[in-house]
Amino acid sequence: MLRPPLRQIVHRAAHWRCPHCGQGRLFRGIFRMFPRCPECGLSYFPEQGYYLGAMIVNYAATTAVVVTIFLLSLLFPDFTTLSTNSKVFLWMVFAVAVSLLFVRHAYSFWLGIDFWIKPRQPDLPAKE
Ligand SMILES: [Zn+2]
Repeated sequence: MLRPPLRQIVHRAAHWRCPHCGQGRLFRGIFRMFPRCPECGLSYFPEQGYYLGAMIVNYAATTAVVVTIFLLSLLFPDFTTLSTNSKVFLWMVFAVAVSLLFVRHAYSFWLGIDFWIKPRQPDLPAKE
């Protein structure tokens, strides 16, 4: 199978769409994915542990954002009068929120980039 253009894959991943057809949605809930594309039948779970890489991508992106903002916040040390414990708690809440914000993007880009590297055909026919 021919490798699709990277630009097309990134566009589909950014819109949480199937990397194969570009029509099927990836998510049926906030974090719950369809097992396969509702339009073309491409499996979104080709093997066990498939999304471990997406979790690592999510962790790296979250860490990069939180650490960057934390380092920038050091430029304004007297910005707030909160106690150290309160600040640590707020940073933890912020890190969890950023992580949750990135989950869908990480999964979508992981699926898209993997499909770009190893294009595959749907193993089931399209809509029943
Ligand atoms: Zn599809």
